Amino acid sequence: MAWQTIQKPVHNPFQRPTEAHQPVAAQPPPALADYAATRATFHWDQARAALHGLPDGGLNIAFEALDAHLDTDRADQLALRWLGRDGQVRDFSYRQLAALASRFAHLLQRLGVAPGERVFSLLGRVPELYVTALGTLKAGRVFSPLFSAFGPEPVRARMEIGDARVLVTTESYYRRKVAPWRAELPGLAHVLLIDRDGDTAPDGTLSLAELLADCPDTGGLTATRPDDMALLHFTSGTTGRPKGAVHVHEAVVVHRLTARYALDLHPGDVFWCTADPGWVTGTSYGIIAPLVIGASLIVDEAELDPTRWLGILQDQQVTVWYTAPTAIRMLMKLATRDERGIFADYDLSRLRFLASVGEPLNPEGVVWGRDVLGLPFHDNWWQTETGGIMIANYRSAPIKPGSMGRPLPGVEAAIVRHTAGAVEVITAPNNAGELALRPGWPSMFRGYLNEPERYRKCFVDGWYLTGDLAQCDADGYFWFLGRADDMIKSSGHLIGPFEVESALMEHPAVAEAAAIGIPEPTAGEIVKALVALKPGFAWDEALQRALLAHARKRLGPAVAPRVIDVRDNLPKTRSGKIMRRLLRARELGLPEGDTSTLESDER
Ligand code: AMP
Repeated sequence: MAWQTIQKPVHNPFQRPTEAHQPVAAQPPPALADYAATRATFHWDQARAALHGLPDGGLNIAFEALDAHLDTDRADQLALRWLGRDGQVRDFSYRQLAALASRFAHLLQRLGVAPGERVFSLLGRVPELYVTALGTLKAGRVFSPLFSAFGPEPVRARMEIGDARVLVTTESYYRRKVAPWRAELPGLAHVLLIDRDGDTAPDGTLSLAELLADCPDTGGLTATRPDDMALLHFTSGTTGRPKGAVHVHEAVVVHRLTARYALDLHPGDVFWCTADPGWVTGTSYGIIAPLVIGASLIVDEAELDPTRWLGILQDQQVTVWYTAPTAIRMLMKLATRDERGIFADYDLSRLRFLASVGEPLNPEGVVWGRDVLGLPFHDNWWQTETGGIMIANYRSAPIKPGSMGRPLPGVEAAIVRHTAGAVEVITAPNNAGELALRPGWPSMFRGYLNEPERYRKCFVDGWYLTGDLAQCDADGYFWFLGRADDMIKSSGHLIGPFEVESALMEHPAVAEAAAIGIPEPTAGEIVKALVALKPGFAWDEALQRALLAHARKRLGPAVAPRVIDVRDNLPKTRSGKIMRRLLRARELGLPEGDTSTLESDER
């Protein structure tokens, strides 16, 4: 591969630890020392000023992440260590990663990809993914990551909506998930394979390694403006197809600030974000934020495996760890708060800060972290549309287990009630309502690609409505209560019921389908589908298995329902909308709530 020859050995700053376990590592001073004082005087211009920037007010995420370090003593420090599934290790210094990103940026120019056009990746956590992301941003083209566990349907929908011009992937993913429908996406001009074998490669593909080897390893930077589109992150809706949230280069202001304030990242930290870059957390905090700060980023190719993870935390001497409740719940199965079990065999003394995001973190998880890992987890909250962390528990402030924390300095959050066109802010503490944010933070999404109406509907009366239900206590801490809509959160992944239902409806036996989230102890929720059959089809185990297989093949394991059951009829409103909420309440034996709009019922 091209970059095996480009790569030079990197000084390894890590040694295997020999000391006995110490509960808490030495801490640098907190990046956010006084929440109230900082919040009182904060202005976004201060956060902007902390970035390097480009001449004439330009700003480029990849420049901030890589090139800005090149004239400092960080240039030859470890930027990214990749741990392969089978034990391989590859190290990239800031200088090497900057050079690879330059090659990729030149490649896009040579291929005739215009500024603002979309470069998609469909890759596992391999080095090429990181080079694609950073090279695309450096070139001023738009990076859009796809989760590799998506099946052909979610991949196709997102590439169509995003108007993909380039795809970087593997031969196997290409053959299974893209080749069958590629002819219907004529705008997709280039498919670059990271493992292309000249003898057997599919038609219409190019070898990424060969092309990169031929490109210069300096330059390639496009002097983007803060408002130029940089990232396209897909998120699901309860109705309609997925939405492509548009993010601009200025988002890096929030990436940097939150890396400091919410994750307490300092230059030289060894940082591990376990989220996959196929989702927004894995890009904002699994690529951009730690590099901007000058930390060393750990990337693990393998899937979640608790003992492997403990080995990584120990051997890589991770200092700051950002993970998710599903993973924490899996680790919690290995040890109780009183009995450290397998954890006693690992030296985790370098860990100094733990954070969690993506789904509700139970108070037990926070306390378990403190007792077993020596540190509590700091829960924080954000979503694809916000582009970065908005609400957090900070290192210097008391944690309230079960709370998402308080708004970032510069962010105004409120609990609101809204009726047609008007928002009422609920100021009395501990009242439930919808979580809303005052627009204006730099990483706010700037649109849903080509869907201005859907975007407009997110803003009412000067507030951005998040779709989450929450409440705020007298100390200003926010507490998550649930979604205000029918979205499903499974293993931290936001899944839109509509996408699941559409795939099921393609099956000849299915007349109607509804997808709902059902609580599950480890994943938080799993997807359950309820279907009504067309005349002439009878429900039996064979049909159930066939439907499960159909859904898995179309949607991939990350989105497909885990359980499918049958109903004679699904409850609908007078306008014909399936009442997923009612179905869910019935499944869980909860009160059915308001059924006044019910037109036809399942029973
Ligand atoms: P996504 O856009 O895929 O990142 O999903 C965002 C959604 O995940 C939020 O709107 C919440 O519903 C949920 N979420 C994120 N962080 C938290 C958290 N700390 N606690 C509870 N739910 C969360």
